[in-house]
Amino acid sequence: MRRTATHCPYCAMQCGMDVVCEADGAVSVEPRLHAGRRALCQKGWTAAELLDHPERLTTPLIRSARDEPLRPATWEAALDRVAAAIEACWTAHGRDGVGVFGGGGLTNEKAYALGKFARVALRTRFIDYNGRFCMSSAAAAANRSFGLDRGLPFPLADVAHTGALLLVGSNLAESLPTATGLLDDLVAGGGALIVADPRATATARRATLHLQLAPGSDLALANGLLHIAVREGLLDEDYIAARTQDFQRVRQRIGAYWPDRVERITGVPVADQRRAVHLLGEADAAMVLTARGPEQQSQGTDTVQGFINLALALGLPGRERSGYGSLTGQGNGQGGREHGQKADQLPGYRRIDDVHARRHVARVWGVDPDSLPGPGVSAYELLDAMGTRGGVRALIVAASNPAVSAPNSARVANRLAALDFLCVLDPFLSETAERADVVLPVTQWAEEDGTMTNLEGRVILRRAARPAPDGVRSDLQVLSALAQRLGAPANAFPTEPRAVFDELGRASAGGKADYSAMSYESLASGDGTFWGGERVFTERFATPSGRARFHAVSWRPPVERPGGDFPLSLTTGRVLEHYQSGTQTRRTPQLLAGSADAFVELHPVLARRHGIEEGDKVWLASRRGRAAGRARLSPDIRLDTVFMPFHWGGEGCANLLTNPALDPHSRMPEFKHCAVRVDDVEPADPRRTTPA
Ligand code: SF4
Repeated sequence: MRRTATHCPYCAMQCGMDVVCEADGAVSVEPRLHAGRRALCQKGWTAAELLDHPERLTTPLIRSARDEPLRPATWEAALDRVAAAIEACWTAHGRDGVGVFGGGGLTNEKAYALGKFARVALRTRFIDYNGRFCMSSAAAAANRSFGLDRGLPFPLADVAHTGALLLVGSNLAESLPTATGLLDDLVAGGGALIVADPRATATARRATLHLQLAPGSDLALANGLLHIAVREGLLDEDYIAARTQDFQRVRQRIGAYWPDRVERITGVPVADQRRAVHLLGEADAAMVLTARGPEQQSQGTDTVQGFINLALALGLPGRERSGYGSLTGQGNGQGGREHGQKADQLPGYRRIDDVHARRHVARVWGVDPDSLPGPGVSAYELLDAMGTRGGVRALIVAASNPAVSAPNSARVANRLAALDFLCVLDPFLSETAERADVVLPVTQWAEEDGTMTNLEGRVILRRAARPAPDGVRSDLQVLSALAQRLGAPANAFPTEPRAVFDELGRASAGGKADYSAMSYESLASGDGTFWGGERVFTERFATPSGRARFHAVSWRPPVERPGGDFPLSLTTGRVLEHYQSGTQTRRTPQLLAGSADAFVELHPVLARRHGIEEGDKVWLASRRGRAAGRARLSPDIRLDTVFMPFHWGGEGCANLLTNPALDPHSRMPEFKHCAVRVDDVEPADPRRTTPA
């Protein structure tokens, strides 16, 4: 029996886990004490089921023509085919004809190597990743106000010890399940939990106060709460004077958000608005945490900014047991956005259009700074332009499933089909891999070393617990082999994670996210290392003045207002059993037993209006397409809103409906709101042919 101390492969909690490999080949997992917690949710407990899953890919697959099926091939043949397709694309369309699409679940080493591969081996400006769909609005707002984007600038454990917590658009109990105990500890210790969410989720049901706002109205709520704080003398004037700048314009702007108006926009009663502000403003310590709810909007950056403004006005960031933070969702949502997967960034959070940054990174990479391409475009823009003039004609996808996870997914599927060539690196045949010309089977978490940066900015080491199955290679090996076929020197792309991490350290040195002082040895002991320190902003912010910057923001309605043919609001989100596009968790029998199919949650009164009963198949339609799920009737959702989780493909793909309208700053799509109608109902009981 061999026991390996490592971490869960799924969400940004990165819970400590022991992988136990028995002599007979059986593999199991156990929770391991890490950062003060010893817990796994059901996704973590079942993670090992995927290692020997019958659908696991263990040989490359090649399609000889688009109408031919994928067939097994040797690695040599598959890699040769990819390299030949890239070179053909270069000849026809130039370097920018080839693009790369990465993922927020990749280890830091792989994310770094993918960014380097795009800039050095492919010399394309077109690289972005699915983290653009998750955290980019919070990143943009944090950079604007604090000069630095670290999701949580303090340890997560602080949450249990604050006096009042405003949680905006986070169903933490299902998205970061092992953090739920912190909320319970907070409330048990006399603290107040305020949850702003259109649904009475498992998280909202724990709350002292639930603000059940309309989808897309979050910024009006933020400005309204600040309006009340100003009017009722709850500001921390000393903090504003000493640690911030530019408050006056915000004070003027929020004058228009009087409570009655905010109640009309958000649906949150004035009394609840006032109670929320007083709970926050009168507590001895308080926090504001945002997540995908306010971020995944066409005004996501400004919406997060509104809540940062509130936190600053109450004097919270940088104070003991207090602060503002964003709750990252994907396993390496934090690290994955720091080291070069984003279209506009080089490792260490360096800007790709910064001359000094280019020079530093080019020196580490041993290339001419002028050979590095400039900034590309954001994830949806990259996908939307595939196969068109000016867009990429060949795409390499790693650790992502945009055919399910991108908004307006039917359009994305069409664009994937329009590519001259698609290569996907994945352990399973995801919906995107099914469309590929070449599929390369790669390692899973327990088969390789690598570092992850959890939602606190804590860099942790994930250890290989067992060898990869025959026929499977690591993403680092794949990138190295492809780079060599494309003319890179043999040592330009190391395949050992430790060597890549050391190089990442040199490339990030001096950047905002500087990993240069870390090593596998230093990370192997203890609970990991916070980049930038355990608590940042205690003395100064990362702006030139050292002060946090207020920024005046105004609410705008979502791009699609419900009405006419599409009278309802659709919002999307997660369920406890599944992770992201479900490529892994939909293949895990125990998780499927808990949540097998897509569903549509709607209020019983709305259901009655449409003759819908529990379990009926409900077809929703938006301006982009139709999707279906089994009806789940719940009084926990607003009457004007329906909810679909986004973990399924096929007809249950919620993103067939969602609106790709982009935030102007972060380029994040408006996943959290679009206008829909109930288009059709198929009764669960076939004898009930006509809805009642
Ligand atoms: S909370 Fe997240 S990291 Fe922890 S076991 Fe569950 S899925 Fe894994």
